[in-house]
Amino acid sequence: MTDLVTDQNAVRRYLCDDAPDARLITVRLGRTKDEMLDHQNMPGILKSLCEELVAATCVLSHMLKFDGEIIVQIKGSGPVTMMVAECSSEGRIRSTAQWDNLTETASFRELLGTGYLAVTIDPKQGERYQGIVPLESDSIEECINHYFENSEQLDTKLWLSSGEKSVGGLLIQRVPEEGGRAFLEDSNWQTLATLADTITKKELSSEAGPLLIYKLFHELNPRGLDPWEIHFGCSCSRERSARAIRALGEKEVKQLFLKRPSLQVDCHFCGQVYQYDHADLEWLLSDQPPGSDTLQ
Ligand SMILES: [Zn+2]
Repeated sequence: MTDLVTDQNAVRRYLCDDAPDARLITVRLGRTKDEMLDHQNMPGILKSLCEELVAATCVLSHMLKFDGEIIVQIKGSGPVTMMVAECSSEGRIRSTAQWDNLTETASFRELLGTGYLAVTIDPKQGERYQGIVPLESDSIEECINHYFENSEQLDTKLWLSSGEKSVGGLLIQRVPEEGGRAFLEDSNWQTLATLADTITKKELSSEAGPLLIYKLFHELNPRGLDPWEIHFGCSCSRERSARAIRALGEKEVKQLFLKRPSLQVDCHFCGQVYQYDHADLEWLLSDQPPGSDTLQ
């Protein structure tokens, strides 16, 4: 077993010598979650939800192992109309949300109402893929598990918990054994799922990592692989924000400049402000095709 540490800002995968048909992944984000969200001044209840959404996105990214970005977005009809979390294959995360007057005691359903959860896989090479499930759950954890039930070929289950200092997650997945001797019996999977269900929310948020895995599954001889470090970063730029303006069309952009001396685009993810004045107009209206990415 790897040193029995609690991971700080990392995702980690484990193999169990005595359960070769199972894959385990943990995520724990400490300081990084605050660097990512504190400047957005979200109500506490919404910040916790964003933290869990990001933790889930990190696990998905590590599970799918591809070169590119994974974007998990929730659209709702309640006071929270949108939440989004992104994780790149370099371990860069960011998240934001849109909301209106909400009460800290509201339930998940009261906050989000009806809507959907969309998982977008955006590889550097090749086609984008998107999977969507309706919002019919009472938590981020349930939403993601609902997505797995609809999209994953393999039995997959995720647990999430957001605490004051850190957010943690644990995923277990049933994989075919080497040599194709797959799914002959349920025992390992059931044992893992039963053990994982014994974890408390506090343990999950504060101890996710090799320490937690050893506490839960030591009888199955788990081996932790190297941690995958996660950090906050934003992919916004002056050029990408200009695309959002260009996408409005020449007529609209000219009208906007008639009414004001400059245009401003704020990046909700990181707080960066991009300003464009009359001297930029020609560049803004140049023939460069607007990008398809409207998230900046
Ligand atoms: Zn940004």
